[in-house]
Amino acid sequence: MRAPLIAGNWKMNGSKRDAQLLFGGVTAGAASLRGVEVAVCPPFPYLALGEAELADGVVRLGAQDVSAESAGAYTGEVAAAMLAEFGCRYVICGHSERREYHAESDTLIARKLQSVIASGMRPILCIGETLEQRECGETEAVIAAQLDGVLQVAGIEVFAALDIAYEPVWAIGTGKTATPEQAQQVHAFVRARIAASDQRIAQGLRILYGGSMKPGNAAELLAQPDIDGGLIGGASLDADDFLAICRAA
Ligand code: PGA
Repeated sequence: MRAPLIAGNWKMNGSKRDAQLLFGGVTAGAASLRGVEVAVCPPFPYLALGEAELADGVVRLGAQDVSAESAGAYTGEVAAAMLAEFGCRYVICGHSERREYHAESDTLIARKLQSVIASGMRPILCIGETLEQRECGETEAVIAAQLDGVLQVAGIEVFAALDIAYEPVWAIGTGKTATPEQAQQVHAFVRARIAASDQRIAQGLRILYGGSMKPGNAAELLAQPDIDGGLIGGASLDADDFLAICRAA
């Protein structure tokens, strides 16, 4: 009942030419996929190109971040309404790289979620623990605090309009993947935490895994009952690898 989503997070990689080739490669390969939603999130300057290249709608367009503000004197920021104008359907919010390098708080992230939803797009809310937190046995406490931080500001209803990506920070770009069991355990915890507020929303909530997902490990991760897709970094920069992950979903 939860249609899987595979989303590519290109991060700050490539050139305009690379982006064009990747949009083309993913679109061509995605045409034969069934039963999986596919999205790619290029850097902001390539969104207009993405809107044109993905016009047939087989692959959806997403952005990697957004401002919490709607307009005004916020130099360097990009408003949700602007992303919607360029055909974005998804917006990644609260990626661990934003939390770490830009000190994004749960409160700010909750406001970003609200502005994305208000503009008719779907946020992908990223959560996850660091290696130190995992080794101290704090994984569930960290995840709970990240979810509660959003719940307090934005309420349970936003969870009916977003997807979550569980991305253990120690697995991002490191080649270290959570085992299917480790990932499943946290995904089940996330669903239970949301179910404590609303059972129906929790059942419909799509929870993606992210962190060194690649063709070789995607199938066993995606076979877990509470893993509903993937947020793919490094492997999304190669059309063949990305499409192989999409086929595994
Ligand atoms: P990775 O990145 O697949 O390169 O580990 C995932 C992400 O950060 O979204």
